[in-house]
Amino acid sequence: MQKLVLASNNAGKVKEFQALLAPFHFEVIPQGVLGIPPAEEPYDTFVENALTKARHASSASGLPALADDSGICAHALGDRPGVHSARYAGEPANDAANNQKLISELSNQSDRSAHYVCALVLVNSADDPNPLIVETGWHGVIVNEARGANGFGYDPYFFLPELGKTAAELDPVQKNLISHRGQALRELISQLQLRSKSL
Ligand code: IMP
Repeated sequence: MQKLVLASNNAGKVKEFQALLAPFHFEVIPQGVLGIPPAEEPYDTFVENALTKARHASSASGLPALADDSGICAHALGDRPGVHSARYAGEPANDAANNQKLISELSNQSDRSAHYVCALVLVNSADDPNPLIVETGWHGVIVNEARGANGFGYDPYFFLPELGKTAAELDPVQKNLISHRGQALRELISQLQLRSKSL
């Protein structure tokens, strides 16, 4: 098993990554288990934040590290909350307060479309000159009433018209098949496989 530090302690994400990476023989170790504190996320783009988090986790652990930066972009709000999704309603991060703020800001908007973004970065070491980077999106609409008890964050309000369900009504396997994080991880793994073939 290849050890991989995950630069996140978000329980929802850790569960999703462990499930997604299990078939590829990675032992996913959340950075908190190694006593690594979270990195600052000072940037305005998902990719820059993910790269910073991955370098920080790899530097502190001496192991390869995987980081994601993700969030939800509401189109009527100029793609807010975007990189600020986790703390949209302020400190400390609170899913219920974030969702209420989003719903209230969208209350007068006819365009309810939104997409989740996931940027993933894998580094072999803190000074890896060739990080693997992917970014993907997952499109839906924001509804006013919460539905479903699975997932985390904005999932109860993120409705998928083609399925007639919110992301929180999907079972975890189904969510991982289609979500921004699932898509990004599959893309990352196929790039990894291509790289190892070309070595
Ligand atoms: P990060 O830890 O800085 O990447 O913050 C990501 C934030 O975006 C989370 O705390 C959630 O608020 C939101 N988010 C990202 N992915 C998801 C998802 O799959 N479901 C629900 N909310 C998500």
